[in-house]
Amino acid sequence: MVYHWTLASILHASRVGEKDKRLVLFSRELGKVTAVARSTAVPDAKWSTSFEPFSLLYLRLYDRSRFLTVVSSEERVVYTGVLSSLSRSLKGMAMNQLAECVLEPSLEEPSLFAAYVTALSRLNIAANAAEEDRAFLQFTLDVLTELGFGVSSLHCERCGAALDKNVRFSMRDNVFHCLSCATAETDVALSPELVSFLRTGEGSIDARRTLTGIALTLRLLRSAAGKLAITQAFERFAQNAATLFHTEAREEPKESCNEL
Ligand SMILES: [Zn+2]
Repeated sequence: MVYHWTLASILHASRVGEKDKRLVLFSRELGKVTAVARSTAVPDAKWSTSFEPFSLLYLRLYDRSRFLTVVSSEERVVYTGVLSSLSRSLKGMAMNQLAECVLEPSLEEPSLFAAYVTALSRLNIAANAAEEDRAFLQFTLDVLTELGFGVSSLHCERCGAALDKNVRFSMRDNVFHCLSCATAETDVALSPELVSFLRTGEGSIDARRTLTGIALTLRLLRSAAGKLAITQAFERFAQNAATLFHTEAREEPKESCNEL
């Protein structure tokens, strides 16, 4: 028998049987693992925590042949700002869903864990919908980086030129193009502000460009998911996210004449 002490966040909690909960955890030390928390779904549970998403917990897990059970739990941070708002909760759930589908089971991902905790903290203190969306966009950029598909340096997919100004994004192929390689019907021009934000994850960016950025990172994530063969799990997240951020309407080619 083995015990693990770990700092973890709950990505997903579901009830099993009458009394127990099955938790999908994002653990700093263990990566994505599933654990059962006994007698946590009853009204007078001995636990001080509710074992629901949007908190950071110190957990002691009992490991018997890879079957994990929660032995003790201590709340470190509860993201009450996320829990108190429907809009923030929905965006937080989309983050959880994204993390759950890109994480490989039991593979330690400390930098993605750090990015995830940062994203929750940002979402927790977001003052308005635009700030919530920005926190989500930043998280998608971090996930792309962690998956090896980061956009901190952009190159034209056709000619390989490093892209600085006049960046175009192909809505057909979900790749970046330079001005001369761009196809007028399917490529959109990206504003310097948006390009800078995509590269660095920082900077000032208005609400409309933030949503454009999300539409774009969702497309990049879909390509990445295809290459990583996690399409099925990804599509559930993508459909949710598209509804949440109204990105479907932005796919109309008629927008291609505007700079986004
Ligand atoms: Zn080019």
